[in-house]
Amino acid sequence: MSMKKVEILGVTVDSLTMGEAVSRIEGYLSKKKPRLIATANAEMLMRATSDQELKHILNAADLVVPDGAGTVWAANYLGCKMPERVAGYDLAQELMAIAPKKGYRVYFFGSAPGVAEKAKAKAEELYPGINICGIRNGFFTEADEAQIIADIKAAKPHILLAALGVPKQEKWLYSHMKELVVPVSIGVGGTLDVMAGVMQRAPLWMQKAKLEWLFRGLKQPSRAGRLMALPRFVLRVMASKKKK
Ligand code: UDP
Repeated sequence: MSMKKVEILGVTVDSLTMGEAVSRIEGYLSKKKPRLIATANAEMLMRATSDQELKHILNAADLVVPDGAGTVWAANYLGCKMPERVAGYDLAQELMAIAPKKGYRVYFFGSAPGVAEKAKAKAEELYPGINICGIRNGFFTEADEAQIIADIKAAKPHILLAALGVPKQEKWLYSHMKELVVPVSIGVGGTLDVMAGVMQRAPLWMQKAKLEWLFRGLKQPSRAGRLMALPRFVLRVMASKKKK
């Protein structure tokens, strides 16, 4: 399997297909060692340029998949042929699809109260026989953390999907992964919201036209300001290439 990587604004991103990402993760699932997986879009990579802790975590992660048209564009622009986009939502679905047969237990951690319950019901409908071994909403204080960690440890998931938003999910997983000993932890952003029907993904034609970022920005007015992250990202990547 290829282990091609590309550095985008100081973060090393893996260049692989969805199929390759799934087999890499299946390899991790056959072992005990806790692994961290991040799904890097333009917004996350931009944030990592000013958040050194996030940058360090991404570079320490076992796998950083190219989530988003911006990341794929940047890789290609920098001379690394990126085969395709590996969206966090799609990756989570692929893993849940094989989970019943493989016996992987999945834990949902994150999103507003009530959302993970709905996402669990959806997962059970989509993937009959799946074992969602635990759920916990993503709103908590430091005082709740010991209980959350104990609950995850007791549920013994193979896959921990953390939907706390960027960079909270990456920072939380990184600081607790040694203690949790979950083979595969993935920061999945809005995945539980989409599964629960609280948030919609862009229609397929928009995804294919590489416009999912636009859809998300328009759909969530609170995020409209974040729309600027993509053009800023493009300029930043262009400038970084000139410097080389
Ligand atoms: N979220 C959470 N805890 C928090 C903040 C956010 O569980 O303290 C959840 C939020 O409810 C949503 C998810 O994190 O389900 C992703 O949030 P957002 O879309 O803001 O983040 P992104 O990953 O797109 O940056």
